Amino acid sequence: MRPDTRLTHAGRHPEDQHGAVNPPVYRASTITFASVAEKQDRYAARLEPGTVYYGRYGTPTTAALEEAIAELEGAYGAILTASGQSATACALLACLQAGDHLLLTDSAYGPTRGFATGPLRRFGVETTLYPPTIGAGIADLLRPETRVLFCESPGSLTFEVQDIPAMVQAVHAASAAAGRTPPVIMIDNTWASPLFLQPLAMGVDVSIHAATKYIGGHSDAMLGAIACTEPLYPQLKQTMAQFGQNPGSEEAWLGLRGLRTLGVRLRQHQSTGIQLATWLSRHPAVARVMHPALHGDPGHALWHRDFKGASGLFGVELEPVAEADVHAMLDGLKLFAMGYSWGGFESLMLPTSAQLTRSTGDVPAGPLLRIHAGLEDPDDLIADLDAGLATLPTAAA
Ligand SMILES: *Cc1c(COP(=O)(O)O)cnc(C)c1O
Repeated sequence: MRPDTRLTHAGRHPEDQHGAVNPPVYRASTITFASVAEKQDRYAARLEPGTVYYGRYGTPTTAALEEAIAELEGAYGAILTASGQSATACALLACLQAGDHLLLTDSAYGPTRGFATGPLRRFGVETTLYPPTIGAGIADLLRPETRVLFCESPGSLTFEVQDIPAMVQAVHAASAAAGRTPPVIMIDNTWASPLFLQPLAMGVDVSIHAATKYIGGHSDAMLGAIACTEPLYPQLKQTMAQFGQNPGSEEAWLGLRGLRTLGVRLRQHQSTGIQLATWLSRHPAVARVMHPALHGDPGHALWHRDFKGASGLFGVELEPVAEADVHAMLDGLKLFAMGYSWGGFESLMLPTSAQLTRSTGDVPAGPLLRIHAGLEDPDDLIADLDAGLATLPTAAA
C-alpha cells in the first residue's frame, strides 16, 4: 500500500467499535480482568504493542495511534508519550546509564541538548556534541562506552541535512571491527514526519516524533511518539511506564484525527514553504535561506536522495541589521504569529538568534528567523513578508 492509503487505514478497526470509523476516547485508569488467569496473561504481555493492562501502559485509543505510526515508520512498534520532549527523554533514559557516552548532533533541538547537558550529566552520562555534517567521520568519535548516537535531520534552527546512511554504515563497521555492540542510533524525525523519511529503513533503531507538530497538526495537543525495532521495544515501553510519561487518551485521539489528513496538509505546507523560501532567497534584506529543498542549499543533494518531501519549516538569515529593526518588523507582521512549536495550520515566525548556542562548525552570524509556512494562501503570506521586509534599512540594497 502507498503512504496515503496507509494514512487512511492504519490503526483502524471499525469492527471493534460497533462500526464507528474512529475509536472513541477511552477514559480508563483501571482495566478489570475476568479471572486471575487473564490478569496474569495481560501482565505477561504488558510490554507488547496493543496490550491494555493498566491506564499508564495505554488504552485502545493510544494503541490505535501507536499501531498507525509504527506502520508508517516501518517499525515493530511505537510508544506514545506526553510530549515530544518526553519521547526524547524516555528514549535516552531507556538506553543510557552512568558511565555511558552519548554522541549528540550539535544541531539538536535545544531542550534535547538541555536534557543531555542537564539531567544526563548529573546521572553520569557524558555527551559529545558533533558537527551535524560529520558523515562517516562520526566513527572517529566512538568510544568503547558510546551507547547512543542521536541524530536530527534537518537540524533545528539551521536545517543541516545529515548523511544518515553514511553514519549508520561507519558506526556499524567501526563497532564490528572493534568487536563491540554498536550504539543505539536514534533520530528526531519531527521535521519530515513519518511520511517524508523512514529512518528505520536506513538502519536507524529509534525514530522520535514531536507529534505535537505535524501529526497533531492543529496546535491543540502535546504528544510524543517513539517508533523502534523489536529488540528495543520492551525497554522503551517499560521506561515510558516507569517514568509515568503516558499521554492522555484525548491527546492520542487528536493525534489520530490529525494523522488522517497529514498527507494533504504536508503537501500544502511543502509547496507554500518552497514558494516563501524561494521568494525570500531573492530579497536584498536576506543573506541566506536555510531550506534543503532549494537547489543551492548545502544539504540539497542528501535531502533529494533520502527524503520524500519537505515540510513547511525553514530558516532565514537576514543581512546584518539592528536587532530593534528586526523586532519592529516581527511586531508589524499580520499573518505570521510569534510563538513556540510549529506544524499547525497557521504560519509562524520566530527570531532565533539569541537561542542559537552552537559549539561546532559554521554558525550563521546574522539575525536568524525560523518560519513555519501555514495553510494560508501563499500570495497573502508573501504580501505580508514583503511589507515587513520593506521596513528594514537593508531592503533597498
Ligand atoms: C518541538 C520539538 C520537540 C519537542 O516537542 P514537544 O511536544 O514540544 O515537547 C522535539 N524535537 C523537535 C525537532 C521539535 O521541533
